Amino acid sequence: MKKYDVVIIGAGPGGYVTAIRCAQLGLTTACVESWINEEGKPALGGTCLNVGCIPSKALLDSSHQFHHIKHESSEHGITVSGVSMDVNKMISRKANIVKTLTQGISGLFKKNKVDWLCGQAKLLGNRQIEISPKHETHDEKTIVEANHIIIATGSVPTKIPPASVDNKLIVDSTGALNFNEVPRRLGVIGAGVIGLELGSVWNRLGSEVTVIEALPDFLALVDRQIATEAEKSLRGQGLDIRLGAKVTGTGSNNREVTVNYDDAEGKQQITVDKLIVAVGRSPNTAGLGAEECGLELDERGFIVVDDHCNTNLENVYAVGDVVRGPMLAHKASEEGVAIAERIAGKPGHMNYATIPWVIYTWPEIAWVGKTEEQLKTDGIEYRSGSFPFMATGRARAMGETSGFVKILGDAKTDRVLGIHIFGPNASELIAEAVVTMEFDGSTEDLARTIHAHPTLSEAMHEAALAVDNRTLHI
Ligand code: FAD
Ligand code: AMP
Repeated sequence: MKKYDVVIIGAGPGGYVTAIRCAQLGLTTACVESWINEEGKPALGGTCLNVGCIPSKALLDSSHQFHHIKHESSEHGITVSGVSMDVNKMISRKANIVKTLTQGISGLFKKNKVDWLCGQAKLLGNRQIEISPKHETHDEKTIVEANHIIIATGSVPTKIPPASVDNKLIVDSTGALNFNEVPRRLGVIGAGVIGLELGSVWNRLGSEVTVIEALPDFLALVDRQIATEAEKSLRGQGLDIRLGAKVTGTGSNNREVTVNYDDAEGKQQITVDKLIVAVGRSPNTAGLGAEECGLELDERGFIVVDDHCNTNLENVYAVGDVVRGPMLAHKASEEGVAIAERIAGKPGHMNYATIPWVIYTWPEIAWVGKTEEQLKTDGIEYRSGSFPFMATGRARAMGETSGFVKILGDAKTDRVLGIHIFGPNASELIAEAVVTMEFDGSTEDLARTIHAHPTLSEAMHEAALAVDNRTLHI
C-alpha cells in the first residue's frame, strides 16, 4: 500500500494549492480528484477553474467588451456598426481558458512531485483512503495511507424543490455558463453573487433579465451605502430585480418556463425562456464516508472544524467551501496553506478578518473588514470617509465615473476597520485595503501613502483623507 505524509481530497483551490505547498515543504503528497470535465476527461481545478470563478469571469469579460463596444464607443469618437456576438465562440473561448488553466495545474503537480490520484476518495478512518475509479483509465479500487488527511471536497449548487434543474430550460450556475444562444427572457432565482454575475453576463448580451430574491434587502451582506448604489446601477443597466419575492413553483413546457413567486402584493408569475437557479451552494461530502468513520458534520452538512481547520478526527483537517466561512477560492487556498505549514512544523497563519470579497458586476463591488452596520451593531465608534470616482482624473479619462470608496476607521485608534468599494476595477483596488488591514494600518497611513497620478487608487487616498475632513479634490 502506498504511503504519503499528506493526502488531500479534492483539487479545487483549497486542495491543489495545499498540495503544492505541502510538496514545497518536503512532505510526500498526493491529491485525489474525481472531476470529469465536459470532454469526459479527468481534470484538476475543482469548481473554481472548471465551472466557477474562471469561466464566469471569462464570460463577464467577453460580455463587458461587447457591451462597451456597442454602447460606449461613440463617446470616444469611434463609430462601429454591425456589432454582434457569436455566443458559441464566446463559450469556446471560455472553454479554452479553462482547459489551459486546469492543464496548468497538472503541470504544477508534476513540477512539485504531487501525485494526482484519479478517482473518488472515501475515508477509511483517519489514516486510510479508498479510491474508486471514475474514469476508464483507472479500473481498480486502491487504498492509500497517509499521516495527515486534508479534506477539500468543496461545494455543489444548492437545490430547491420549487425549481428543479433539468439542465435544459432550468439550469444551475454550471448550465448558465454554457447557453448556446442569448435567451430572450431570462429568469434568475437568487440575487447573490453568482446570480448577479451570471444575470449581468446575459443582460449585457441582450436578455431581458428578471432576478427574483427572497430577502427584502438587496445584497444583505454588503455595506448598505454600497448596496444601495449597486442596486440603482444594476437596475439602470436593465436588471429587473424583485426583492422580498420567494419562488414557490415552476412549470415548463419544453419551450418556456413559468415561475411562480410570492411577494408583499401576493402571488405573482413570470414567464421566461431560461431560468437560472442561483440560490447558494451546499457543502459536498457525498461519498466521502463521513458517517462511517465518525467525521462530525453540522446540521447543514458542513464538516465541523475548529479555528485551525482541525476536524474531530486526529490528523484530519478540512478547508474551503466544505467548512464554515465565506465560500471563496482564496479563503480555501489560504486555509490549506496554513495547515500545510503547521504540518511541516511552521506557524501557519490565516486571518479571517482580512478576507476580501468581490462581486464582479460592473461596476465591481469589493470590500474587506466590517460594514458600517456591523460596527454599529458591535457598538464600535468609528469615523468614515468616502470619495467618488467621478472626482478623479483617471476615472474621467476612462469614462468610468460611477461609484465611490468608503473607509471606516476606529474613532480612537484610527485603525482601519473596513474598506468598501463600488467602482471600476474594485477587484484590483481592494488589494491595497487588504494589505493595510493585514499590517494593522490606520487611515492616516493610507492618507500619507503616495498614490500614482492619475490612477483610480487616488480615490482610496482621497477617501482616507476624507476620514480627517481634508480631501483635496472635492
Ligand atoms: P471546489 O473548488 O468545489 O473543489 C472541490 C473538489 O473536490 C472538486 O474538484 C471535486 O470534484 C472534488 N471532490 C469532492 N469530493 C471528492 C471525493 N470524495 N474524492 C475526490 N474528489 C472529490 N470564488 C471566488 O473567490 N471568486 C469568484 O469570482 C468566484 N466565482 C464563482 C462563480 C461561480 C459560478 C461559482 C459556482 C463559484 C464561484 N466562486 C468564486 C466560489 C469558488 O468557486 C469556491 O469558493 C471554490 O471553488 C472553493 O474551493 P474548494 O477547493 O473548497 O472546493
Ligand atoms: P448566495 O448565497 O450569495 O449565492 O445567494 C443566494 C440567494 O438566493 C440568497 O440571497 C437567498 O436569499 C436567495 N434565495 C434562496 N432561496 C430562494 C427562493 N426560493 N426564492 C428566491 N430567492 C431565494
